[in-house]
Amino acid sequence: MAGRIKSLIGSLGPAIGRPLGLRISEHENMLREIRQDVEYTQTLIGKTALSANVMAAMKEVPRHEFVTPEQLEQAYANRPLPIGEGQTISQPYIVALMTDLLAPKPNDVVLEVGTGSGYQAAVLSRLVSKVYSLEILERLSQRARAVLTRLGYDNVECRCGNGYYGWPEEAPFDGILVTAAAPNIPQPLVDQLKPGARLVIPVGLPGLHQELLLLEKDAAGHTRTRSVIDVIFVPLTGEPLARPSGEG
Ligand code: SAH
Repeated sequence: MAGRIKSLIGSLGPAIGRPLGLRISEHENMLREIRQDVEYTQTLIGKTALSANVMAAMKEVPRHEFVTPEQLEQAYANRPLPIGEGQTISQPYIVALMTDLLAPKPNDVVLEVGTGSGYQAAVLSRLVSKVYSLEILERLSQRARAVLTRLGYDNVECRCGNGYYGWPEEAPFDGILVTAAAPNIPQPLVDQLKPGARLVIPVGLPGLHQELLLLEKDAAGHTRTRSVIDVIFVPLTGEPLARPSGEG
């Protein structure tokens, strides 16, 4: 299970069919659960509410478009869901929190590592001018690209590649968000941050303790890191780390 806080699992009641009205109320319920989780975790995350623009993006992006047909009834549940290839779409609370920690601004150019379903990229795309997103598994990268294109998220560019090394041709970035856990912070990503930029990344070993870290690079290029909350993510794979888990 990836992209989830350890202590909280939100839930929806049983889903019955998918009329539009029900989907809207499920989506609203998801937003309510995110607000509740923020309140529960306020001492850890240091705020009682996420930015209004982040919550507006969470309200705007249709999560049901990014899940597999098997998961459609659970699309607005506040928990991670399988998306195939052994990967998951993150828990909505975690998507919202990570987006908020990145403090995105309208003219920002950001990098996401771990496109997965494309959902996090779509949320980011509502808040910045351009999103570059890297996914190591070709099938997921292609599927996310197709969904994002179909829905008109035309400021997102997806590429299949190893995000450990970032996207040097488009660097430096105003922010980098990593949605898979690394054993430590990849230096190439730190190098690709502009002065004043932020990196949000889960760090730790699979199945063991993982922490969501916020790294800030100041104007002089010095970095400062703080641990925000314990999380559970799928591992960052590929060189120089482990073999991609969706391959074989
Ligand atoms: N942000 C995604 C969540 C994806 S889960 C969403 O909104 O749906 C993490 C993703 O990271 C998986 O799809 C996994 O294949 C990918 N991944 C793992 N290691 C990677 C690497 N080195 N480079 C790029 N993507 C990677």
